[in-house]
Parts: sequence; C-alpha cells; structure tokens
Amino acid sequence: MSKIMFKIKEIFKSIQGEGFLSGSPAVFVRFSGCNLWNGMSVNKSNAICNFCDTDFVGVDGQNGGNYNLSELLKKIDKVWNLNNSLTRKFVILTGGEPMLQVTNQLVEHLKKQGYFVAIETNGTIESNINFDWVCVSPKNLNLWKLLKGDELKVIYPQYKFDLNSLKKLSFKYFFLQPMDGNKKQTNIWNTINYCKSHKPWFPSFQLHKSLNIS
Ligand code: SF4
Repeated sequence: MSKIMFKIKEIFKSIQGEGFLSGSPAVFVRFSGCNLWNGMSVNKSNAICNFCDTDFVGVDGQNGGNYNLSELLKKIDKVWNLNNSLTRKFVILTGGEPMLQVTNQLVEHLKKQGYFVAIETNGTIESNINFDWVCVSPKNLNLWKLLKGDELKVIYPQYKFDLNSLKKLSFKYFFLQPMDGNKKQTNIWNTINYCKSHKPWFPSFQLHKSLNIS
C-alpha cells in the first residue's frame, strides 16, 4: 500500500445534484485544497477563481481527516454502506481540486471495490488516470489543459469562454450552470434562455441546494 496521505475535507453520502448523473446516490469525497484559490475569504477577490461557494479548506468536515490509502478506502465503503442503496456503488471525487491528490492506485482500488468512479475537476491538471466519468468545469482559459471528458460544465456567465468554440471539444455532454451569488435568479433565467437556442448546451441546476440537502 502507498504511503501517501490524502487530505480530505469531508466524506458524505448524498445524491449527485448536478449535471448528467443528477439524482444518483453517491459518496462524495471532498479533497482539501485548490490551485485556483486558497480558500481564504480575504484572498477571494484576487483569486484566479473568485466565485467559489465551497469550503475546501482543512480536514475538519464530516469524516474529514488525513487518510492513508487503506484507511480512505475503508471509510468510503463505510459511508456508502450507512444506508441501503439499490444502485451501483458510486463515488464522486471532488474538491477543491481533487486532481492535486488523486492517484491511479486510489482509483483502481475503488474500481476493484465495485465503484463507478467520477471526478469533478477544474481541468488545470492533465491526467492518464482511467476514471469512469470525468466532469470538467473550467475557470480559467489559459490554465485549462484537460480538454476532453464526459461532461463539460461551465458556470454561467463567464464571458472569458466562447461557448460556440467550446462545443467543438471532445465531451459527450455540455452543461451551463447558473452562477450562484446575489445575481442567482437572473443567472438562472439567462442560462435557460441561452440553452433554449444554443445546442448542445443544456442547463444544470444544483438540485441539492434547491432540496436543501448537502
Ligand atoms: S476551481 Fe472549483 S474548488 Fe477551486 S476555487 Fe474555483 S470553484 Fe472552488
């Protein structure tokens, strides 16, 4: 077993609230840290990504901690087994930026344990790891390197991205997700209106927030 220690903010079971796999029960593993913002509110306005709505700092969340590979695998299984699920075992590696920490070994072991393994990444780090599902949500055009995957999810509006060019990239599904914050309602309507007349873009809403579940 590897000696790598994973810094994990939280691990919990919920339903995927966004994108193509919305509604699927999953274990969420939130990795600590991001390469586009240090997570401190005092630095947010100057960060490369400055509209983040996630707390990914430290290891103090539900089931958070510093885990070695074996401990992390056991904890993920324990959380999945907390209640019965009729669906395939499903784990979503998220953050922060999970690519900073996720290893091939972790993914292969999760697959051996029967998991469908998805990752949600900002796309700044290329990887040869064989995930079952890759969701890229870019935040910076110059730093974006991972240009293919299963779903592309663009937070809308972000005028630095030319959506017409992006739809030529190698993704199966293209989602626009309204930016949260004080213009959220306007962003929701603008997202819906854009998607109505621009294939293949499809709106993605954060169901978990509407349903008030984590
Ligand atoms: S890239 Fe993602 S995790 Fe990092 S600051 Fe932006 S929204 Fe948050």
